[in-house]
Amino acid sequence: MTKPVLDLSGQVAVVTGASSGIGQAVAIGLGRAGAAVVVNYRGERDGAEETAEAVKAAGAKAVVVHADVSSEADVMELFRRTKEAFGSFQILVANAGLQRDAPAHEMSLDDWRKVIDVNLTGQFLCCRAAIREYLARDPQPELSRAAGKIICMSSVHERIMWAGHVNYAASKGGVMLMMQSLAQEYAARKIRINSIAPGAIKTPINRDAWETPEALAKLLKLIPYGRIGEPEDIANAAVWLASDHSDYVTGATLFVDGGMTLYPEFRDGG
Ligand code: NAD
Repeated sequence: MTKPVLDLSGQVAVVTGASSGIGQAVAIGLGRAGAAVVVNYRGERDGAEETAEAVKAAGAKAVVVHADVSSEADVMELFRRTKEAFGSFQILVANAGLQRDAPAHEMSLDDWRKVIDVNLTGQFLCCRAAIREYLARDPQPELSRAAGKIICMSSVHERIMWAGHVNYAASKGGVMLMMQSLAQEYAARKIRINSIAPGAIKTPINRDAWETPEALAKLLKLIPYGRIGEPEDIANAAVWLASDHSDYVTGATLFVDGGMTLYPEFRDGG
C-alpha cells in the first residue's frame, strides 16, 4: 500500500550542490518529508550549514559533506561519508551545476570542459555511485517499494536550444539521454531514475534574468503561467519523485517550468 502522505521518514537522501538555490530547497523539502539529508557543497560552507540547520529544524538529521562532483575521488569520498553517517541511502538528487556562458566562437575549451565536467560527468559519477549502492544492498520494502531512487537535475534546455550557452545546453541534453539510458538499464533491478527539468527558477545561477524589473518583464514573456519559479516548486516535485507516490514513474523528465516549453510565442496562432 502506498502511504497516504509523502512520507520519507527512515530514508536517507544525498543532495549535491545543496548550499544554495534549488539544491538547498530540495534538501530542506526532503528533510521536511522526514528524510535524513547529506548536504553536499563545493565552495559555500556557510550555505551548506544553513541548509543543514533548516533540515534539522524540520526534525530530520543532516550532515554536511564537501565534494567537487567532477572529481571521481571526491564523489567516492562523499558516498563513503554518507554510508559512514547513515549506513546506506535511498535517494540521490544529482543537482550540482553551473554555467560558463559565451558565444560559441569565443568559448574557451576550459569553459566547455568545465560545464560538461560538472553538469554531465559529475551527475554520471554520482549516479554510478548510487546505483552501485542500490545493487549491493538488500531491498528495503519497509522504507520504499523501489530499491533506490535517483533524480537528475536537468533543465528546459534539454529540449530548448540555447544560443550563447552551447556548453550548458549540450550538458543538459546529455543528462536527458544519460538518465533515460540508466533508467532503461536498471528498471528491472527496481531502481527508479528520473529528471526534473526546471524552467526559470529564481536562484543565483540566473540572477541577471530576474534582478531588474526590465529583465524580469522580458523573462515573463517566455512563461505562460505568468510568474518566475521558486526553488520550492522544484523541491515539491523532487519530494514526489522520491516517494512511493511516483513508484510507477521511471525514465521520465518532469518539466516544472510554468509552461516555458509550450512555445508561448505561438499563443496567438504564431
Ligand atoms: P545555484 O548556483 O544556486 O546552485 C548550483 C549549486 O551547485 C551551488 O550550490 C554550487 O556550489 C554547486 N556546484 C557547482 N559546481 C559544483 C561542483 N563541482 N561540485 C559540487 N557542487 C557544485 O543554481 P541553481 O539554479 O540552484 O542550480 C541547481 C541546478 O538546477 C543546476 O544543475 C542547474 O543547471 C539547474 N537548473 C536551474 C535553473 C534555474 O532557473 N535556476 C533552471 C534549469 C536548471
